[in-house]
Amino acid sequence: EGVTYSLLPRPCRVLVLLNPQSGTGRALQLFHSHVQPMLTEANIAFTVFVTERPNHAHDFVQNGDLSSWNALVVMAGDGLMFEVVNGLMERQDWESALKKPLCILPGGSGNALAASINHYAGNEPAIREELLTNCTYILCKGLHTPMDLVSLRTASGKRLFSFLSFGWGFISDVDITSERYRKLGNARFTMGTVQCLAKLEVYKGRLSYLPVGETSASSSPYSEQSSSSGQSGHHTCYRNGHPSHILPQTVPGVSHVPEGTWPEDSLLVPFNQPVPKHWTVEPEEEFVSIFAIYQSHLGADYVMASKAKLHDGSMHLFYLKAGVSRTALLKLFLAIQKGTHMDLNCPQLRYIPVRAFRIEPFVAAGLMTVDGEMLPCEPVQGQVQNQLCRIIGG
Ligand code: ADP
Ligand code: MG
Repeated sequence: EGVTYSLLPRPCRVLVLLNPQSGTGRALQLFHSHVQPMLTEANIAFTVFVTERPNHAHDFVQNGDLSSWNALVVMAGDGLMFEVVNGLMERQDWESALKKPLCILPGGSGNALAASINHYAGNEPAIREELLTNCTYILCKGLHTPMDLVSLRTASGKRLFSFLSFGWGFISDVDITSERYRKLGNARFTMGTVQCLAKLEVYKGRLSYLPVGETSASSSPYSEQSSSSGQSGHHTCYRNGHPSHILPQTVPGVSHVPEGTWPEDSLLVPFNQPVPKHWTVEPEEEFVSIFAIYQSHLGADYVMASKAKLHDGSMHLFYLKAGVSRTALLKLFLAIQKGTHMDLNCPQLRYIPVRAFRIEPFVAAGLMTVDGEMLPCEPVQGQVQNQLCRIIGG
């Protein structure tokens, strides 16, 4: 279907950004035992950059000279890839920097991108060392292809780029709650789910989205307004009249790059304007969870959107309306492990592929996550940016 693959040159040289703390804390050991021998065999030279703190990889990728490497390899969880993607976007030369292929080797406890790439490659589901070996083999093959990113904007003026997911409510709560069980590896999500099920919360807000296939009469009448909303203004007047509290930042706010040089969010309008008329505004205003995922997997053994592709130009929006019982929620959670959750016909669960969305919480409650990293709860909107970066896979 017109997918273009390119090949890494041989011999080639890659930079491996490795978080020694991710997952069960064995990433460096696993690199030496499982990855290094295969890279040597494939004539791929490497330099290992071991991170010493959060944002270390971000800062290096944002400011460093990357010209010596043919690809940037992340050996960690999805959190470190999030740092790398945003670090690249914050470079003055972001557009050419994004042409450098990225690669994920699962070293964390949240390995959704690695599991998705393993799935797209046609491999059987795999976890732990088997998934790592599969992904290392994919790196050795060296095929790279475009990947969509999602451009996210918060009401407090942040703009972030996301490759995996955006969520609010139950699933995000599980993601963050489970971080204390990181040492359990993939099993951390089971522990987190059990804990979050006990205090099943309802979150109030407005969800709006632009379904895939919905075309407006004129293609981008809003691009002017949207590109003028780039300053870090604190919008306090939301349509629903419930300004959210500005909580401490937990992910880096994007800076340094003049807004005008970034890809335009042609589908979005500023928060102080209602969403465009051809969007859908969900009448339900009480949710257990809202989750937009752009890859197939939510974790190594959680298949949320099995039809997702690296560049399908869409986000897969799932939302769970209030009224779902704990038992039904547990059944859904178990079904996601096999990707059969939609077969349960749960009346509160909705799925729709979208190109853009907006979430406006009425009060700042519950956690928001971007690619599994925590974000303060506030109004957020986002849209797909087609094929913005490149990833090794295939
Ligand atoms: P996991 O899948 O286990 O969550 P990640 O690679 O996603 O592993 O990393 C989790 C968090 O650790 C990320 O937010 C990242 O910024 C942070 N981090 C990166 N390097 C380090 C380090 N050396 N020490 C502590 N935290 C780090
Ligand atoms: Mg993580």
